Amino acid sequence: MSTIIDGKAVAEKVLAECGQQIEELQTRGVVPGLAVVLVGDDPASKVYVGSKVRKCAELGLHSRKIELPADATHQQVLDVVHELNADPQIHGILVQSPPPPQIDEDAIVRAIDPAKDVDGFHPENVAKLALEDSSGYVPCTPAGCMRLLKEAGVETSGAEAVVIGRSMIVGKPMALLLMSKEGNATVTVAHSRTKDLVEVCRRADIIVAAIGRPEFVTADMVKDGAVVIDVGINRVEDASAKRGYRLVGDVAYDEVAPKCSAITPVPGGVGPMTIAMLISNTIKAACQSQRA
Ligand code: NDP
Repeated sequence: MSTIIDGKAVAEKVLAECGQQIEELQTRGVVPGLAVVLVGDDPASKVYVGSKVRKCAELGLHSRKIELPADATHQQVLDVVHELNADPQIHGILVQSPPPPQIDEDAIVRAIDPAKDVDGFHPENVAKLALEDSSGYVPCTPAGCMRLLKEAGVETSGAEAVVIGRSMIVGKPMALLLMSKEGNATVTVAHSRTKDLVEVCRRADIIVAAIGRPEFVTADMVKDGAVVIDVGINRVEDASAKRGYRLVGDVAYDEVAPKCSAITPVPGGVGPMTIAMLISNTIKAACQSQRA
């Protein structure tokens, strides 16, 4: 029987810890503040931004949503970032990805004050992750995956881990976390040029799938007793669903789950952790701003 790792429950636990920290900060007159910048009207981005702002309100965080039109210039977005960098009420800033094509996303990320970069995408925070300097901010999704592994009692030390995907927001930071002194795993990072991916995956005690392809990881790629963390969120058409689509992960859950010792479902696995870790990073930023 495989354990289904309940991301909602772990996220609630993280948010309960956050709630306590928020109360402590409030006794010192500090209200952690998160600013979310949304450029354009991408429907999925609107949903993500809405849920981040709602979660902040529920927890008593100060949040600010800044919406810019789809034809906003790069300079307009930069100006907003500079204002937020200078605003003492704002401890965390994120610019929702992907922005429209006229915006140079890398340059925007570099313009965010690294001390407010709660997404953990600024080069300074990427370097701190590689250096295992805990003053930096770890990207929320891989940080959430590590917490899920911990809460599920998965021993990462000495484990063979295969991360499928090498993006800067999931795959690479996930690999760094797994190989860090906290993770101590032996890590292989696979991507679209990897040869014999099936064989590579079959060696894994832990598979983290961050590919962006629905149900890509099939039962033949997974060894008996492996732990599978499914980061993928993919919409697939489903005429029987109310919205005309349903969400599936990067793992063919129904055939893979029976082989695993533990697995995350989609939805309800990694997804809820991402927002919980964002709130956690914002609180860390508020705490660190007091010490600065
Ligand atoms: P990217 O598209 O940036 O990266 C996908 C990675 O998968 C790339 O490294 C790519 O390789 C690799 N890949 C693609 N096809 C193959 C293949 N056939 N074989 C092996 N590797 C392959 O995606 P993200 O990292 O941003 O996101 C991955 C998934 O996670 C998506 O479904 C996304 O929606 C989801 N996601 C979920 C989050 C959550 O909160 N749960 C947060 C962020 C993302 P190459 O580099 O060679 O192109």
